[in-house]
Amino acid sequence: MRIDILTALPRLLDSYFNESILKRAQAKGLAEVHVHDLREFSEDKHRRVDDYPFGGGAGMVMTIGPIDKAIAWLKGQRRYDEVIYMSPDGELLDQPMVNRMSSLKNLIILCGHYKGVDERVREHLIDREVSIGNYVLSGGELPAAVLSDALIRLLPGVLGDETSALSDSFQDGLVAPPMYTRPEAYGDWKVPEVLLSGHAARIQEWRHKQSVERTQVRRPRLLDENDPG
Ligand code: SAH
Repeated sequence: MRIDILTALPRLLDSYFNESILKRAQAKGLAEVHVHDLREFSEDKHRRVDDYPFGGGAGMVMTIGPIDKAIAWLKGQRRYDEVIYMSPDGELLDQPMVNRMSSLKNLIILCGHYKGVDERVREHLIDREVSIGNYVLSGGELPAAVLSDALIRLLPGVLGDETSALSDSFQDGLVAPPMYTRPEAYGDWKVPEVLLSGHAARIQEWRHKQSVERTQVRRPRLLDENDPG
């Protein structure tokens, strides 16, 4: 998978993609993340990418020119499956959506800033709008990193243990069971006996039961097949 991220603040994303699992995924050639500075595509002599809103009001709006040029430049080099705009009012990101998107090959993710982007960008240049939740952040960089991380960790070979992503919350419509590691007893706080039994079937049964109980308490709507939210 190749992800091209368009942003006015590229440095915000550097450290995230250059550490840990995302770094390894790129080193292994399983994922490529390229961050592009929208200012490079600005024809303004001060390399501006925003302007005052028509009609007045507070805040600046990102202009269409640099965004259009950046997208056209990328599309001139390869075919993209989707151009995504991170937006608070977009489709709410969840695991089934991430799973579906993880089979895509080339993605462009546009990060907004200030009051967002000129509406004509959304009308004419964007295929899909994704929100990471009903709250407003100051820029699309964190949301773009959230989406990229969720996608990349699903790619085969990225996580050390192949089955690991499958046992995470939401993959089977349930949240994850409690996990423990050494020591067996921390003062009076003990690890549940069954996990030390070495009895694989009993352990699996216990974990499943815990997952179901937790889902009932924490995310009851996941158990309603008609309402995956
Ligand atoms: N005025 C806009 C908010 C702009 S916030 C509104 O009220 O909808 C600035 C940018 O941050 C947005 O363009 C978007 O790219 C990003 N952003 C903020 N919150 C987000 C969220 N919850 N999900 C995805 N992107 C978000």
